[in-house]
Amino acid sequence: GVEPTLAPLDASKLIFTKTTTPMTVPELGSPIIATASQCSDHMVTAVWKATTGWEAPELRPYGNLSLAPTASCLHYATECFEGMKMYRGYDGKLRLFRPDCNAKRMLMSATRISLPGFDPEELEKLMLAIVAVDGPKWLPKSRAGECLYLRPSMIGSAGALGVAAPKEATLFIIATFMPKLEQPKGLRLLASTEGIRAWPGGFGFAKVGANYGPTLMATKTAAERGYHQVLWLLDGQVTEAGASNLLVVWKTREGQLQLVTAPLDDKIILDGVTRRSVLQLAHERLANGSTGLEPIEIVERKYTMEEVADAVKEGRMVEAFACGTAFFVAPVCAIGYRETDLDIPMKRGDSGEYAHAIKTWLIDIMYGREQHGWGVIV
Ligand code: PMP
Repeated sequence: GVEPTLAPLDASKLIFTKTTTPMTVPELGSPIIATASQCSDHMVTAVWKATTGWEAPELRPYGNLSLAPTASCLHYATECFEGMKMYRGYDGKLRLFRPDCNAKRMLMSATRISLPGFDPEELEKLMLAIVAVDGPKWLPKSRAGECLYLRPSMIGSAGALGVAAPKEATLFIIATFMPKLEQPKGLRLLASTEGIRAWPGGFGFAKVGANYGPTLMATKTAAERGYHQVLWLLDGQVTEAGASNLLVVWKTREGQLQLVTAPLDDKIILDGVTRRSVLQLAHERLANGSTGLEPIEIVERKYTMEEVADAVKEGRMVEAFACGTAFFVAPVCAIGYRETDLDIPMKRGDSGEYAHAIKTWLIDIMYGREQHGWGVIV
């Protein structure tokens, strides 16, 4: 027969149902924020059915979802998500940082686990919709320099056991407080020589829940040994650190200064929006030395923990930093590897010079000190 045309996700159909029981916004520094459990007044939801496609999305009061115990996501990890922030600028404006990147990545993740597709621009519009409704109250002008976390997610919600692509999916977007991560003076990473996070042909490149739960054991062990995060290796190759990408600055044996990070083409690591932005700013502002820092070559290639260890031992390591939405740009001070701690220099005391410069540029863009196309005003 003829394939029925499925309705596409359409943000212009958004149905608004405002809450009649508005919540109180917690004070900054209140303990409720530290639990990351307080969401804003509203959420966006949209249901997809295999037979009809996307129903009209709704912006409705925040509340629990109702799922059959047989729901696909509860059994087969048909779940993917995004993590991004809304920023209250020093100019009073609310911004998202490159939301188009998150929307596209969500589509890529959904596709990897057989959840339905959508036009990423429509998802972006839905993200902007919840920020427009809850942002002014939950992130008021008096909170310039603060942010709220946005969590777009999609789950296979069809109530039917059986390892098969779910016939129903639910997309939702919530906004929540996130505790300000205590910025340690330097991150201490533990290079994992046993556990593996991702492997060729797997799904390490996708932001699916199945990539996170299984890492918690290793993170706990690392914490017990005095480290903040696990640095994931694959056959000795450095991949990424916790929920962040890793970049190192070293001198080659020939004396060339390089900013090095693992490549995306093996599909082992997540294509971090922060990583991407760091690399782009580095290409624009650091490669030619126009900013007063020594010009640096930017290299995306496979590199190994042995190379890192050699660079440290030979005094060629300049700095290292992790980057991601949660950790932002976090300088690394030590990497535990084969029972020893490799000391990573932090020239400025609390950071290396390159991480510091990049972090400053990004903050300026996110909080509107520098007008830039990446900062999307709501
Ligand atoms: N790697 C992993 C595994 C992550 O979960 C994240 C956080 N999304 C990142 C890297 C950093 O990505 P982003 O800069 O987009 O937050």
